[in-house]
Amino acid sequence: MFKYSNAKSGRHFLQIPGPTNVPDRILRAIDRPTIDHRGPEFGVLGRKCLAGMQAIFQTTQPVVIYPASGTGAWEAALVNTLSPGDAVLMYESGHFATLWKNIAVKMGFKPEFIEGDWRHGAVPEAIEARLAEDKAHTIKAVAVVHNETSTGCVSRIPEIRAAIDRAGHPALLLVDTVSSIGSLEYKHDAWGADVTVGGSQKGLMLPPGMSFNAISAKALAAAKNSKSLKSFWGWEEMISINKNGYFPYTPNTNLLYGLSEAIEMLVEEEGLENVFARHHRFGEATRRAVRHWAQGGAMEILCQDEREHSDALTAVLLTQGHNADALRRVILENFDMSLGQGLGEVSGRVFRIGHLGDFNDLTLMGTLAGVEMGFEVAGIPYRKGGAQAAMDYLAECAKKPALKAAA
Ligand SMILES: *Cc1c(COP(=O)(O)O)cnc(C)c1O
Repeated sequence: MFKYSNAKSGRHFLQIPGPTNVPDRILRAIDRPTIDHRGPEFGVLGRKCLAGMQAIFQTTQPVVIYPASGTGAWEAALVNTLSPGDAVLMYESGHFATLWKNIAVKMGFKPEFIEGDWRHGAVPEAIEARLAEDKAHTIKAVAVVHNETSTGCVSRIPEIRAAIDRAGHPALLLVDTVSSIGSLEYKHDAWGADVTVGGSQKGLMLPPGMSFNAISAKALAAAKNSKSLKSFWGWEEMISINKNGYFPYTPNTNLLYGLSEAIEMLVEEEGLENVFARHHRFGEATRRAVRHWAQGGAMEILCQDEREHSDALTAVLLTQGHNADALRRVILENFDMSLGQGLGEVSGRVFRIGHLGDFNDLTLMGTLAGVEMGFEVAGIPYRKGGAQAAMDYLAECAKKPALKAAA
């Protein structure tokens, strides 16, 4: 039987870019008796969570909540809007974009995958050029990952929206925000997304097991004509029963307790703008640390476009001949910290520092100190003082509240 080890003292640093650390407040909220999901008390909880998720996605349109990991909400976005054989234009930003494309293949759609280099977000000009060629409008949707968790590159969604509009193309815009929602700025309505896919276990600071679709009126209209077989993922029945705060099948009630708490923390107490500014501070401090280590060292930031650096995680590429998994092992064994592994094509070459969710300046400093000590123990060349560079930046932010707010 699995037994959680308490052999180590102090707190484990779970600095993978999801699942993220679950705050004690949320754990306590979840630790309550499960209630009748058709009773009066439940409706209050359901309505609060659904309205709160509209605030988080920055939408006035319906949001549905699935008792499933993010992968389920990926599938839901496709089967509700498309019919078998429909073409969908997808962009290879990295591992997660590839997984979504693979689902589209398995479900009988025809994804066209624009090749990417795993060091940039989706390129708006490439999407525009492909759509402009598609005079017959055979492409029914464009699907992109907002925060590509395997590379730390953010796709510029407003620019992609503008590219689709410039091409004069009616395709729906489907966006994966599983690792950005609740950490990075995202506006479902103002940015013109048609379906936004989210998950519980990253910026929302919940355990895994819950995911979301935010749905535009245009996507709802497309769903009426979709011929894909679906039952569990179907929006129509879900949205109609959600109006009163209930669900067509048993929801994960205890995760909804946690979600209700997360909504209070993010929306009502800290405020989304402050949440985004806080993550920007962590992203900037981490990049300063990595750039410092990299001077004369054996590494670089994987993301190559300044405009696309993720404030939720930083992926670090080690120079050929150095093993990122060996480094992560040394850090886990010696300092009890988990870092994200390199996924897919960058396996073994990349490690990822998660700096999202329940996280503050000192959590970041513990994280960066662990990484810097790890370089020393693993024998990876680095310039000493990256953690200091991050400290200098964080202290500067603290001295200048305006900088902190604008950051
Ligand atoms: C984590 C993640 C997913 C997949 O979520 P699961 O919960 O593992 O199914 C999808 N997209 C992105 C960008 C992610 O980071």
